[in-house]
Amino acid sequence: MASLPTLAFHGAARTVTGSCMELCLGDRRMLIDCGLFQGSRSLEALNREPFSFDARGLDAVILTHAHIDHSGLLPKLVSDGYAGPIWCTEPTRDLLRYMLPDAGRIQEYEAERRNRRADRAGEEPFVPVYTEADAQAAVAQARPVALKTWFEPAPGIRARFWNAGHILGSASVEIEAGGTHLLFSGDIGPEHKAFHPDPEAPAGFDHVVCESTYGDRVREEVTIEQRRTLLEAEIRGALTRGGNLVIPVFALERTQELLLDVASLINAGRLPHVHLFVDSPLASHATDVFAKHKEALEDLGSGEIFRHPSFHFVENAGQSMRLNSMSGTIIMAASGMCEAGRIRHHLRHNLPRRESTVLFVGFQAAGTLGRAILDGAHRVRISGHDVTVRAQIRRIDSYSAHADRDDIHAWVAARAPIAGSLFLTHGESEAIETLRRDLPSQGAANAIVTPEIGERYALAIGAPAKRIATGRADLGDALGQDWQNDYARFATSLKQQLAEIESASARREALTRMRAILDSFKEHRGKRRNPRR
Ligand SMILES: [Zn+2]
Repeated sequence: MASLPTLAFHGAARTVTGSCMELCLGDRRMLIDCGLFQGSRSLEALNREPFSFDARGLDAVILTHAHIDHSGLLPKLVSDGYAGPIWCTEPTRDLLRYMLPDAGRIQEYEAERRNRRADRAGEEPFVPVYTEADAQAAVAQARPVALKTWFEPAPGIRARFWNAGHILGSASVEIEAGGTHLLFSGDIGPEHKAFHPDPEAPAGFDHVVCESTYGDRVREEVTIEQRRTLLEAEIRGALTRGGNLVIPVFALERTQELLLDVASLINAGRLPHVHLFVDSPLASHATDVFAKHKEALEDLGSGEIFRHPSFHFVENAGQSMRLNSMSGTIIMAASGMCEAGRIRHHLRHNLPRRESTVLFVGFQAAGTLGRAILDGAHRVRISGHDVTVRAQIRRIDSYSAHADRDDIHAWVAARAPIAGSLFLTHGESEAIETLRRDLPSQGAANAIVTPEIGERYALAIGAPAKRIATGRADLGDALGQDWQNDYARFATSLKQQLAEIESASARREALTRMRAILDSFKEHRGKRRNPRR
């Protein structure tokens, strides 16, 4: 007699990173995604824990898309002995060729940096989570398959991909396992996304797993044309000021969306032939992958958008340095939140220039350099240098790769009827709770489940899922804001709050009281000599 499939959540539950689900049917086991945890230190510490399953015992991995929070632990999985296929779409495979080795280099660099720190003398050397070589090995295991085409990841289980409209190659996964009909959304894109048609998938399932990233946000509807007009105004403004326009970008997708928009504006005569430099090797490689798959992309119009004569792809650090002496150019560089990469060097040289402009087009998390600049910092610290901010700081926040609340509602409604459970994953608690409260019931027996990391569910046919293993109670700290995030926010607001106190004596009084509070914690010191995780 056939057993029920079970589904376990190993990441991206009550948080947005570390996507990893394990589907079991009898003794067959497979993963849907195997992503890196990103964000606070306590979250990133989870990347170093051993997997809670045996990597060598897996039959298959199905990967929804190339973003590192979905794919970034594949090299670790492979170095732990997983030797089977990584099923994905062809564009995803092509992107992984660059994304994973880049992630491996970052891991190696980070380990090296930590080991160099003097205060670590005498401690165990810090070992990278994985290396560039592990990443190359994982890439070799990618097995591309076309959208809407059934494949058999394990005997008795079949699956197929549907366009998710999120980034190049992104897909939702439909799976039939032991008579149970399942759908995993992956990350889904918004309406009016450049390049990709709206997300697509069949209707009528036993269970659906849906992402919730922006489940509590409604974005103003902005068409591609309206967004382009906003960009045109920003570029014109920057060119009038005469300095450079520096745009911190994510290498994958945001870079290519901007290239598409700038090329369209130049070709339509709405902008002059400005020189645009893409100064990020990863962004340049990702752009090549877009060019390779241009037949599958919408909105490209005629001609070779990515080979536009105004675009220059910077190849080495020397060329990157030479941009310092230029004016009136557009410089796009990674990383998107200014935490690493060549963008820091361009910020260092352009932030002090009144005639330069820095334009933010992506989300800036609390505690990042990008966020500090966006929040109006007058001085910032970049690679050991104090940098005064005189440049114009601008933002456009209507570029997005994620469905908002209304898009998610529509996507879920289009999957009805859902006979069993709707699992909400890949969101902070607030987004998930808002969705749980507002989503209309999609079927008679529909139950909304908000799983936690470590939980496992039995997936019945036509009935709600039943929890058969409880989650990890120890993760509360990692999933919430940890103290370092709270500290960063506190430190940022401290000076301003003090300045708002009416007199100098009252300000000193506030400081005295704060010091007294800290002193009252003295007894806690010494009890935990080595709080290192
Ligand atoms: Zn994604």
